[in-house]
Amino acid sequence: MPSTIQTPEQILADLGIREPEDLEIEAIAEYCGATIRYKPLYGCEARIIGYHDRAIITINSSSPRSRQRFSGGHELGHWMRDRGQIAFKCDYQSYVRGWWASNPETCANRFASDVLLPLGMFQPRARGLHVTFETVRKLADTFMTSLTSTAIRLVEHGGLPSMLVCNTPQKKEWFVASPEVSGRLWPLARPKQGSSASSLLSTTREAKGPIDVRCDNWINHPRADHYWIKEDSLSLRDGTVLSLLWWEDEQQLLDLDEYEERMGSRRSDGRTDWE
Ligand SMILES: [Zn+2]
Repeated sequence: MPSTIQTPEQILADLGIREPEDLEIEAIAEYCGATIRYKPLYGCEARIIGYHDRAIITINSSSPRSRQRFSGGHELGHWMRDRGQIAFKCDYQSYVRGWWASNPETCANRFASDVLLPLGMFQPRARGLHVTFETVRKLADTFMTSLTSTAIRLVEHGGLPSMLVCNTPQKKEWFVASPEVSGRLWPLARPKQGSSASSLLSTTREAKGPIDVRCDNWINHPRADHYWIKEDSLSLRDGTVLSLLWWEDEQQLLDLDEYEERMGSRRSDGRTDWE
């Protein structure tokens, strides 16, 4: 076991892992002092009990393999952060919804992404690919990871202007944005009726794949009705709807600079008065 707390990148470098097929979560966890075992669990996906420098991670044996791997990375994230004496019990909701708040669940999810979707391997495979769930599925197959974590990685590091928005039937849970969009455009509290997500949230109908949608169905900006974006939405098993938004036509982003300059209202925190 490494003597000091290491980053996921250092751990993978120590183990000489360079290809996605070598990202064996059991071996990575063992190197970090945590043994993974599988057994039926009820009411949670995984749990960890750790004491001193050893931990046992138990993962639900009846979950799909991609989720089991994510569970392993997630529990390992708890372990690497709070080594010594810990006990966590984590459910599916933490994996889907824990990406926004600053709390141990979000940190554990981020750790799992860094271990299972390392940027050095992910970026060359993702760069320039269309921001759709078809792409996400291909990358998730390569890395054997969940749709949610892979979609977040694609938006944040795929190199195209995009957002991933997570809505539950009750509210918008979180969103992530690519560097070109982050801090410049924000999603509405709720997608409007013209969006695919709106119909998925109100009915149980099937997702219809990527559609062109007017930007004001999604984005909070006075000129949003002048632009179109590509939306690809799907429902997860608990009714959560994930939506990929892609500025395939980047005109809105190009016009933003001019608009912001004209408004002259940029505040010191980087947000603008029309937000
Ligand atoms: Zn957790």
